Amino acid sequence: MEAFKIKYNDWNPDEQKLREALCTLANGYIGTRGAAEEVGRNKYNYPGTYLAGGYNRAKTEISGKTIENEDFVNFPNWLPLSFRPAGGQWLDLVKYQIIDYEQSLNMKTGILERMCLVKDTKGRQTKIKSRRLVSMMDKHLAGIQWSITPQNWSGDIEIRTALDGTVINDNVERYSDLESHHLEPLYSREINKNSILLKVQTRQSKIAMSQAARTQIFYGKNLVETTSKTSQKDSYIEQILSFTVKEGVTYDVEKIVAIYTSRDRSISEPSLEASKDIKRSGRFSTILSRHKKAFQHLWNRADIGVIGCGEVQKLARLHIFHIIQTASLNTIGVDTGVPARGLHGEAYRGHIFWDELYIFPFLNLRFPEITRNLLLYRYYRLDEARYAAKQGGYKGAMFPWQSGSNGKEESQTIHLNPKSGNWIQDNTYLQKHVNSAIAYNIWQYFLATNDRQFLSFYGAEIFLSIALFWASKATYNKKYDRYEINGVVGPDEYHTSYPDSEERGLNNNAYTNVMAAWVFQKAIEILELIENSRKRELYRELKIDDKQLELWKEISTKMYVPFIEDGIINQFEGYENLEEFPWEEYKEKYDNIQRLDRILENEGDSPNNYKASKQTDVLMLFYLFSQEEIKNLFEKLGHRFGEEEIINNINYYKKRTSHGSTLSRFVFSWILSKYDKEDSWVNFETLLISDFEDIQGGTTPEGVHLGAMAGSLDLIQRNFAGLEVGEDALWINPKLPPNLSKITMRIKYRQHWILIALNQEKLTISFEEGWSNKVNIGVINKIYEFKHGEVREFSLTEIS
Ligand code: BGC
Repeated sequence: MEAFKIKYNDWNPDEQKLREALCTLANGYIGTRGAAEEVGRNKYNYPGTYLAGGYNRAKTEISGKTIENEDFVNFPNWLPLSFRPAGGQWLDLVKYQIIDYEQSLNMKTGILERMCLVKDTKGRQTKIKSRRLVSMMDKHLAGIQWSITPQNWSGDIEIRTALDGTVINDNVERYSDLESHHLEPLYSREINKNSILLKVQTRQSKIAMSQAARTQIFYGKNLVETTSKTSQKDSYIEQILSFTVKEGVTYDVEKIVAIYTSRDRSISEPSLEASKDIKRSGRFSTILSRHKKAFQHLWNRADIGVIGCGEVQKLARLHIFHIIQTASLNTIGVDTGVPARGLHGEAYRGHIFWDELYIFPFLNLRFPEITRNLLLYRYYRLDEARYAAKQGGYKGAMFPWQSGSNGKEESQTIHLNPKSGNWIQDNTYLQKHVNSAIAYNIWQYFLATNDRQFLSFYGAEIFLSIALFWASKATYNKKYDRYEINGVVGPDEYHTSYPDSEERGLNNNAYTNVMAAWVFQKAIEILELIENSRKRELYRELKIDDKQLELWKEISTKMYVPFIEDGIINQFEGYENLEEFPWEEYKEKYDNIQRLDRILENEGDSPNNYKASKQTDVLMLFYLFSQEEIKNLFEKLGHRFGEEEIINNINYYKKRTSHGSTLSRFVFSWILSKYDKEDSWVNFETLLISDFEDIQGGTTPEGVHLGAMAGSLDLIQRNFAGLEVGEDALWINPKLPPNLSKITMRIKYRQHWILIALNQEKLTISFEEGWSNKVNIGVINKIYEFKHGEVREFSLTEIS
């Protein structure tokens, strides 16, 4: 049970915002940070509530220019709940004396618990034990229960409960010069003596949200009589409930909140639905027991047992917890992708990047129905991507680097360097490689599920549209008899243009080029997999003719891959001429050099001038493809590329990476696992604590890093347990590092549930249930046919 709990034994104002992000409760539809309920936004407290897909556009004047951003809206705060002995001071941990404090996140049940024993200036001691949930079962419901006990006093008490629509977006300091007001009030009203309602809407996107709150006080099973007073403004409504308490007696204060928006399905109007829900819903305990059941179902599918040194189990569960809270079964039917920072904070404005590339492998093998829904987010935005391609002079569909509501490019045009205070041109939107990531995700989903219906209809249309884009973006270079892709940025965002050049982008980023070549190869394969009738439709709709197919085949073998020297891939053309970066000097000069871009810009310099990368770029290829696949990919491109070259490239770029993105540690841990187990483990351990300890120094309070979190799980499942979703079978080739003694997990491979348990000696595979009565599972080099219910053991000592 302890491995399901994150515990804090003190109230530490400086760490509060980090804890809030880590203690966020979400259900895939709505998320609320683990902020305190008794106070609003202040130095130590940031109550943020976010809606999946809840964006709003706003303009700001910055240095004489008007810029427009699409933000992840902080919706009204439904948490407010406080108390005071009548006439006394409202609870505020800054103003009360804290005698005892404990906070814990129970990840098994999705409950945030807190206990505080406080004393006011008159010496009155009060104990509050609270529980909070955002219901996983009833996605429109959330609740707080306070068990409050006056320890050494009796008398009149007041409970203040409110819905606060005065909130703004203020979670990220760097954004503070930008427009932060995204809500406008519609109305608030008292429903009855213990229930209130608030309705707001986003200023530009006009998403209406209604929140209704019912607050009641119980003594055991009995409702306590209270007098209540309601006061309100348009964007704020509160109710003060008064009653009399006796020393040593515990009273339960229950606040049940219903949240609806104008985007919901099967509703009449948000206020009507929210009011109806709080009238109909039972007590906190009823909602809680349904919520617990939903979590139990999720954990049955999602848990990964991992026994090893340190806190690996607990941290792996923390990562699972936040992924299944952000993309849960409630996400199905919601028009959303996975925001890079979850429903946990405002960094990157809730935008969808390529991070799904790291997140889907975990979901595919447990919740493929969720991945399908998330892939549809892209399908519904194909028209916008087609428009973007056309505007850029290309064919097909060009998806944006940062995507929000309607699929238009949402990357910032300028961003603030907090170190220098300068607003800098942002060229990261040139990361066109996101298109290949979308294609790769479609293919991985198909491999894991064999969902031909999806592939034929949705998947193929997106995939082929991306192939069309790449074919029109690639240009033929006669000199080399090769195709090139110019004017792009690779995953390493530190390089966005050539030194002293006014032009944006770089030429022939190796990762981008190889991925495009892969897209062409797979596009041709996919055409063989789908129904002929659908193929004909797509040819007609997307204007694909034989000439186009010939072009794809040709580019897939003639894409230019720059090399620095024999076997060392050049990150991009011209990278070889950049100066070596004085790593040691900067490590001495600064405590943390992860964000080299900010350091250098502050010094009037730029990472564009150096061989210094933010994160893995070339090396991404060795994460996405197996050694065999790499060999084949490069062979088709006319290059010999084997294990030796892979190792040489890892060594080359390892020395030149600052890990300015949490994703970088993950990829390093992955690619090193075969060649340098120790170093791989160090990267894995760093990855595990990267959000828990906020190793980047201040980024986690702005939202967790879901890509890195999922990456750690992908390492466990696909790397350490050695799972590979093959076309002919599910392959399992365990590579358990010495620091782990056991891994257990249940996965879904093509509609078959398979239980996998392994330790250093033995691998046990059970075919639990499935669509068909048999499934092929490959262990090391041999394929075995498993019958329904069959359990087999394999000795790993003999095999190795
Ligand atoms: C990384 C990107 C990533 C984004 C969102 C950036 O810091 O460089 O690769 O997609 O964060 O997580």
